[in-house]
Amino acid sequence: MAHAEIHRDRSIDAADLTALSGRTIGVIGFGNQGAAQAANLRDSGHAPVVGNRDDAYAASAAEEGFDLRSIADATDAADVVLLLVPDEVQPELVRSEIAPGLRAGDTLVVASGYNFHFGLLEVPDGVDVVMVAPRMIGAAVRDRYVDRHGFPCFVSVERDATGRAWETTLAVARAIGGTLGGAIVSSAREEAALDLFSEQAVWPAILDVVRTAHRVAIEAGFSEEAVLNELYLSAEPAEVFAHVARDGLFGQLGLHSRTSQYGQLRALRALESHDEQASRFARVMHDDILSGDFAREWSRPEAGERLDALRREAGESPIAAAEAEVRARLGP
Ligand code: NDP
Repeated sequence: MAHAEIHRDRSIDAADLTALSGRTIGVIGFGNQGAAQAANLRDSGHAPVVGNRDDAYAASAAEEGFDLRSIADATDAADVVLLLVPDEVQPELVRSEIAPGLRAGDTLVVASGYNFHFGLLEVPDGVDVVMVAPRMIGAAVRDRYVDRHGFPCFVSVERDATGRAWETTLAVARAIGGTLGGAIVSSAREEAALDLFSEQAVWPAILDVVRTAHRVAIEAGFSEEAVLNELYLSAEPAEVFAHVARDGLFGQLGLHSRTSQYGQLRALRALESHDEQASRFARVMHDDILSGDFAREWSRPEAGERLDALRREAGESPIAAAEAEVRARLGP
């Protein structure tokens, strides 16, 4: 069984925390993660410089009292640069506005592994590249820092030019609240692969199960209202998933009737006898993700148009049309 090392507040050597002493932290992007991490850094005793284009996000950073600058100026001023703009804009932004301000000895901190692992970020030599990737949406990164519950995050050193990249990683993780919930030692490859695997294997399978179940139940003569509420409109599956996280995949079964438990476990047993899904998942993991094929396809200029077409196609599917009608009938 492979286990990862986990770092928590109490297990971090005080010496590691000096990695940020006297260094200016730049937060590039003041969106979901940027606003939350900048506030957490400030409450941890740092004075981050925020870099953003001049617009509504910038206005809210200034309103909250942050030292607001252009992206190029903030990068120039910073020794440790947190890259918190959307993944799809990072390659071009790093090339045009961030790389020119990075000097040997600086640290670039990414919050997801995708771009660096797939070779899409051109980072100057001599610059450390590390990952501090919260497993949490931005708003909760802030709330869970304030209430001291914390959140898990993945941490790694991708390039150690200075010999002190690991200390910087832990110090940043701690300052944003990532070691309260546990900083799990990972890698950009692992973070990116698992993220893509959930998106491209697990979630499509779940969406397909719901879509197929809808079709079969409607063909059996049941009403759209009953079927869609049973499947997801009631939000019961969201409740069940919350209990899966809290009580365990099978631990939560006790919340269901005995009839339900018997039906679920009996049917699950029958599914274990074939491994077609495992073969499909393995193909997604190896052939699409780890090979880099998906990243190459998504980097092509026409990929955005293909996404728009796929979204249109999904929006016109029978279940989407039925859902719109049922929602209209049920009202807000
Ligand atoms: P957001 O979409 O919230 O980022 C918005 C910010 O990026 C704004 O400051 C926006 O400024 C700026 N921005 C957008 N486009 C551009 C551009 N073309 N040029 C310059 N600035 C731009 O991003 P997230 O916070 O969601 O994600 C940031 C990073 O965190 C990503 O690497 C993501 O994978 C990672 N992450 C996100 C999580 C989440 O739950 N959201 C969880 C864990 C990691 P402007 O006003 O100029 O548009």
